[in-house]
Amino acid sequence: MAKPGILIVMSAPSGAGKNTLLAAIGEMEQNLATTISATTRMPRPGEEDGREYHFLSWTDFEARIAAGDFVEWAKVHSNLYGTLKCELDRCLNAGSDVILEVDVQGMRSVRGVRDDVVSIFLMPPSLDELARRLRARGTDEEEVIALRLQNAHAEMAARHEFDYIVVNDDLEHAAADMVAILRAERCRAWRQP
Ligand code: 5GP
Repeated sequence: MAKPGILIVMSAPSGAGKNTLLAAIGEMEQNLATTISATTRMPRPGEEDGREYHFLSWTDFEARIAAGDFVEWAKVHSNLYGTLKCELDRCLNAGSDVILEVDVQGMRSVRGVRDDVVSIFLMPPSLDELARRLRARGTDEEEVIALRLQNAHAEMAARHEFDYIVVNDDLEHAAADMVAILRAERCRAWRQP
């Protein structure tokens, strides 16, 4: 039996720069897949269904919860977000290492059902910088930004539950840290179960 792909669960407060970082790592590392989550949130300008997210109505999302289609799901910033089992299978079947992007609740759920998870928390340099980035994005109302900052505070307090913490103060440094973690985990001794 071949050594299975690595399952990485990554959480980052909204605005921590997760998407830019994942795009940079995608350039540096082959054989790395990122699952596309489902959400009830409305697409932001420039976002496409099936690329950033599978955008579902509340009714469809709830029907898929009832059908047992999710590995995990959670309510985040007053919307539902979740990882579909078929998405995870698609990536694992391709023989890839997989990154799941979930909030802290999602990380706890996935760790509850799988014991092979490597968890990484991506820290923004500071809450001030996070607020600046969320406002610079210009896509969210002030009320939504306030909610995201409040959640960011709570998520950062949970960072010690993760295996690794990467600080995204400099994109190149953070990407190098992520690649170092990946490579170390790929070299981890594996005993066939
Ligand atoms: P955004 O609305 O900014 O795209 O995402 C907000 C937050 O939703 C992300 O930072 C992440 O923590 C969370 N999120 C995204 N996808 C998932 C998912 O599949 N499951 C869970 N539990 N949280 C997710």
